[in-house]
Amino acid sequence: MQTIPIRYQVSKPILAGKEREYVTDVLESGWISSSGIYINRFEQAVSSFLRLQEGIAVCNGTVALHLACLGMGVKPGMDVVVPSLTYVATANAVAYCGGRPVFADCDLLTWNVTRESIEAAWTQRTVGVLLVHLYGLASPALEIHALCAERGAWLIEDCAESFGAQIEGRAAGSFGDTSTFSFYGNKIVSTGEGGMVFVRDPVRRELVRQLKGQGMDLNRRYWHPMVGYNYRMSNLTAAIGLGQVEMAGYHLAERRRIASRYIKNLGVLEREGLVRLPVEPPGYLNVYWLFCLVLQSSEPRSRERIQEALLGSHGIETRPFFVPMHRLPMYDYGQHLSHSEFLGDRGLSLPTYSGLPDDAVDEISEIAVAVIRREVKR
Ligand SMILES: *Cc1c(COP(=O)(O)O)cnc(C)c1O
Repeated sequence: MQTIPIRYQVSKPILAGKEREYVTDVLESGWISSSGIYINRFEQAVSSFLRLQEGIAVCNGTVALHLACLGMGVKPGMDVVVPSLTYVATANAVAYCGGRPVFADCDLLTWNVTRESIEAAWTQRTVGVLLVHLYGLASPALEIHALCAERGAWLIEDCAESFGAQIEGRAAGSFGDTSTFSFYGNKIVSTGEGGMVFVRDPVRRELVRQLKGQGMDLNRRYWHPMVGYNYRMSNLTAAIGLGQVEMAGYHLAERRRIASRYIKNLGVLEREGLVRLPVEPPGYLNVYWLFCLVLQSSEPRSRERIQEALLGSHGIETRPFFVPMHRLPMYDYGQHLSHSEFLGDRGLSLPTYSGLPDDAVDEISEIAVAVIRREVKR
């Protein structure tokens, strides 16, 4: 029960760059729909920041995933390997195309899928892998890409939570055949609602562009040779996005500052065996989209009590991990994935947003240490 106002939200967008100036420019120009110069400027700014080719701006991260699956040709009768521990949009994109998501378990330390867990989920009908870089840490995309190449399957990367994450200096999103981003209000770069798709193959890329714009032939007005969609981003949204991506370096540095302070402050809980903190394997750059910890409790109810105490007595908002997909009614085909279930029951996100001051991180940490020591008994 909440008795005091929220003092620290889990997340909030920080519009600290030229967002206002660009939005005003759009309003004054009258180009508020999906034509206008900011779409292209935003696409180019994101593409060049990530060193990826020809991003296609769309209206949210979910439709970006839908287009990615359509672009790779997902159809009824096909299976696609998807992590169980993810946001529901990842699995739904496969289902929108009539495909069946088959779920892979995750690693207990990275919270991401592995080559081995994907192999374990492979079926006769598997045509591709849709991997997710969860909570700011890239999945082992090099190994997974190699597995897909060996088996003649394609790879899509859902980078919604990992804008700017890297493996060996390469951006998350540069490993697969297609990759997608989300710019929802709580993402590292945010436009309120928004997304982007990157498609490596030029023919598939043109198909994705066409599907985004009502299926209209890109060279012949009102000629729609296929059923397409209106998945366009507005120029207004792109103006916010340009202001955001110009500040991406700042937002990424802020995430890392906050995370390293949490890690230092909460290390004591890890040494006592009460929690596990996020990892950053050698060669990986973790961008800590949300700073999370995993309670090492045998009693799942303890998470709820911790959340209640932090919010009710201290105004600190937290968020549980996702419910694993194989536990949702439409995706429950009797799979058992013990790591995803363990993490889904025990993971917790703490306030993480640009500008959260050091002393706030210290205060949140101090309270969290006291509450977790009280509630988690091994
Ligand atoms: C946020 C998110 C998405 C897409 O979200 P939208 O709200 O549609 O932009 C997709 N996958 C993951 C893993 C996400 O976290």
